[in-house]
Amino acid sequence: MTEKTQELINKILKLKKEKRAIILAHNYQRPEIQDIADYIGDSIELSRKAMEEKEAEIILFSAVDFMAESAAILNPEKKVLLPSKGARCPMAQMLPVEQVRIWKEKYPNMPVVLYVNTLAEAKAECDVCCTSANAVQIIKALDAETVLFGPDHNLAWHVQKETGKHIIPIPERGFCPTHMLFQKEDIEILKNEHPNAVVAVHPECMPEVQQIADFVGSTSQMCRFAKNSEAKEIIIATEIGLLHRLRKENPNKTFIPAYADAVCPNMKLNTLERLYLALKNEQHAASVPKAIAEKARRALENMFTLLSH
Ligand code: SF4
Repeated sequence: MTEKTQELINKILKLKKEKRAIILAHNYQRPEIQDIADYIGDSIELSRKAMEEKEAEIILFSAVDFMAESAAILNPEKKVLLPSKGARCPMAQMLPVEQVRIWKEKYPNMPVVLYVNTLAEAKAECDVCCTSANAVQIIKALDAETVLFGPDHNLAWHVQKETGKHIIPIPERGFCPTHMLFQKEDIEILKNEHPNAVVAVHPECMPEVQQIADFVGSTSQMCRFAKNSEAKEIIIATEIGLLHRLRKENPNKTFIPAYADAVCPNMKLNTLERLYLALKNEQHAASVPKAIAEKARRALENMFTLLSH
């Protein structure tokens, strides 16, 4: 680490203490950000952490827009800052609220389940939210055989396969550009090179990639899988940032990226410099209009309620 980087880290940590802030970092953040975060995790794990941190006044949420929005919705009394104003998830943009309303009109009385990777306006129009970690559990818990589900059509495929229910993806082909980079052929080559390796993939990957995996799960589930697996070599198909955490938590295992350039450019907009500026100037606060926040909060809380049954 350079002297300049260490100085910047010291300044962030000093400000954090002065302003009673906590730093939450998504699993896809740059290694140097993960290393100074109070908590690392997926979006809902982090929002829950924020709810538990009663003393904190500021949450510096190093991730993308919809995650900071969800944290703000669940923690209305705290200021939630996003380090980089432009860090927007393209998948969340694929399902504008108008589209949700059109699908609801087309299929009235059908439950609408939206992945947390949506903007607050869209969440406000759905019945319940889900994450990639709990989508299967949420759909199983619903008293319905057909469900409108968006925006990721690969996750919709995974949920349909695991639940046997009829899942209608909205929009028809919403996707994560980063997870679409994984190719079945690349993984097959790696499997030949590492015959003892097991393959763990994220459900945002294409069905043909999921079908050759030993394990399909969210980032938090992949972390648990890696810890509990007897395999010493694991091929990982998700955004490259997770490998830093996996390697730190499992120093005796080897993690092989299924595609080394699987980088989410939006997640990587956050840098130490931007964390420092966001905290110093208290800028890029996530703000959701009250009426939308209340409805979106209900959808998020419905998710927590269904999970507790
Ligand atoms: S990895 Fe995919 S889903 Fe996650 S923020 Fe980036 S574009 Fe969105």
